Amino acid sequence: MKLKALREAFDIWSSQIPREFKEVQNENSADIKIKFVTGQHSDTQPFSRNKIIYAHADTSGVLHFNDDTIWKVYENGDKIMPAAVDFNWVALHELGHVLGLPHNNDIKAPDSIMREDYKNSVDARGFYLRPRLDLADIDNIKKIYGEKVVRQNRTGAKNANSSSSHFL
Ligand SMILES: [Zn+2]
Ligand SMILES: [Zn+2]
Repeated sequence: MKLKALREAFDIWSSQIPREFKEVQNENSADIKIKFVTGQHSDTQPFSRNKIIYAHADTSGVLHFNDDTIWKVYENGDKIMPAAVDFNWVALHELGHVLGLPHNNDIKAPDSIMREDYKNSVDARGFYLRPRLDLADIDNIKKIYGEKVVRQNRTGAKNANSSSSHFL
C-alpha cells in the first residue's frame, strides 16, 4: 500500500518536470533512499516521541518516514480517521523537499503541498480527497527543473526529455 502510494507521489511530481524516477533494488545505485525508521536511526535527525515529526527529507536524497506514526493510505471518499496520518500527503510533501522545494506558507497558496502544517485533504463533505500539487507547487518545481517537453518522434511515439533518478 505504502509502496503504491510512493510510486504515485513520484508520478505526480514527474508529470510536471523533465525527470523520471525508476525503482531499483540495490541501495547503492539509488539517488533517493527511502526508509521507514523509528527513534534514533543513525543520522543526525532522530525521531522523538515527545515532538512528533512524521518524516524528514532533503536534497541529498534522504527520505525517512517515522514508523511510530499511525500511517493511513487513504483512497478518495474514505472516512477520515482522526488518529491517523495521511501517508499520501506526507509522501508528496517530502518528495517535494527531496526535489529541492522549501516550505511554502504563503497565504496565497493555502493548498500548497509544501505547507509546513500537515492537514488532511478532504472534499466539501469531509471525505478524503487525494492531495494534489497546486499552481504554486507546479510553478516552483518548474523553476528548478524546467518544463516537461513532450516531443513527437518519427515513429509517432512520445518521448519526454527526461533524465532519470533512481529511488529505493
Ligand atoms: Zn533520518
Ligand atoms: Zn516539510
